[in-house]
Amino acid sequence: MGLVVQKFGGTSVADPERIREVADHVARTRRRGDDVVVVVSAMGKETDELLHLAAQVSKTRPGREMDMLITAGERKATALLCMALHDLGIHADSFTGSQAGFLTDTNHMNAKILEVRADRVRAAVEAGHVPVVGGAQGVSTAHDVTFLGRGGSDTTAVALAEALGGVCELYTDVSGVFTTDPRVVPVARRMAQISFDEMLEMCAAGCPKPAMRAVEFARTHGVKLHVRSAFTWEPGTWITDEEPDMEDAIVSGVVGDDSEAKVTITGVPDRPGVSAALFRALADADVNVDMIVQNVSEAGITDISFTVPADNLGESVAIVERVAGEIGAKGVTSDASIAKVSLVGAGMKTNPGVAATVFETLATNGINIEMISTSAIRISCVVAGEACDQAVAVLHRAFGLDAA
Ligand code: ADP
Ligand code: ASP
Ligand code: MG
Repeated sequence: MGLVVQKFGGTSVADPERIREVADHVARTRRRGDDVVVVVSAMGKETDELLHLAAQVSKTRPGREMDMLITAGERKATALLCMALHDLGIHADSFTGSQAGFLTDTNHMNAKILEVRADRVRAAVEAGHVPVVGGAQGVSTAHDVTFLGRGGSDTTAVALAEALGGVCELYTDVSGVFTTDPRVVPVARRMAQISFDEMLEMCAAGCPKPAMRAVEFARTHGVKLHVRSAFTWEPGTWITDEEPDMEDAIVSGVVGDDSEAKVTITGVPDRPGVSAALFRALADADVNVDMIVQNVSEAGITDISFTVPADNLGESVAIVERVAGEIGAKGVTSDASIAKVSLVGAGMKTNPGVAATVFETLATNGINIEMISTSAIRISCVVAGEACDQAVAVLHRAFGLDAA
């Protein structure tokens, strides 16, 4: 008998029937003898709908009010799930993030957890109740409601598992972490387990599940993570500290990500301080720069390309145009229709030739590579946006990841 934190994503609680099924599953877990703490996301696509609603009403959208609005989605789901649990004879108590003791900074729309004072949740468990906590929310040091950011419910669940000393199960609409998105490549395979290092590289490469902050938190605090299906309830993927066996595949997963855009600054004078001026200006505007490539200079002139989240493209171009003027660069171009395709695998460290196979595979399929970056266990290539799914599929096959 132990304590398990069960987190249910939006699709898992999308409608009344699904909410009752989640309640059934919580009841089954309790019958097995475990204590359960539940974390829920907003129902279905409600977070997107609330964001859309705000965009229709307001141009300014103050962070404090946005957080009040978005967290209402999770709050609704907690109350409904508690009602379904009561119908099954289980005493369940709903908690907002604030009531559950999530103290955060004041960075609205993307608040960071400072502390989890889980006393009330712990007391509810000790009283034999099932606490149901709203995901992705807390209360700031200024006593305002805060939202932890997209995918923040995973972080809520991991932080509660850490605070209460339990394992963390993340229930979603696929049966675990796959070798690539199973909706894009149907022959993708579910991994029985994956190391924290590989999972973090997959997250950084753009894999949406589980949320990267949650995986980082779990690794730092040694929380056991299990990603599994809220539709089939079968065992899913364990994320663990273990390095893969020698026999394991060189490449564990392939990730396609079309959420970034490319910016190129041409005719840049090649002298110290130019990159510093450029990337400091972007950093000061909180723009998350990902890949950076600087060409070899010719006659003291070079160009620099980098990627940023497509959502930040407009402001990035404005910043880069300003800095280009200051440093005497020639021009700025951008391309929003790019995609980043990444291969991740701990086995890359010890197996030469992975990059060559990636480039050959893309070439054979007529896919042009625009940028390349690597880490010890990852290779990423920027390709044209429309080639993304094909690139993922051919690499997945080339590295023997397709299901038989
Ligand atoms: P939830 O709302 O349950 O937290 P998300 O919708 O954020 O979950 O993420 C689940 C989705 O992630 C799946 O439906 C799947 O299409 C997508 N996905 C992309 N890459 C992978 C992968 N490698 N393994 C599993 N799911 C993936
Ligand atoms: N509902 C929020 C979102 O869609 C938080 C979460 O699901 O983790 O991002
Ligand atoms: Mg989600």
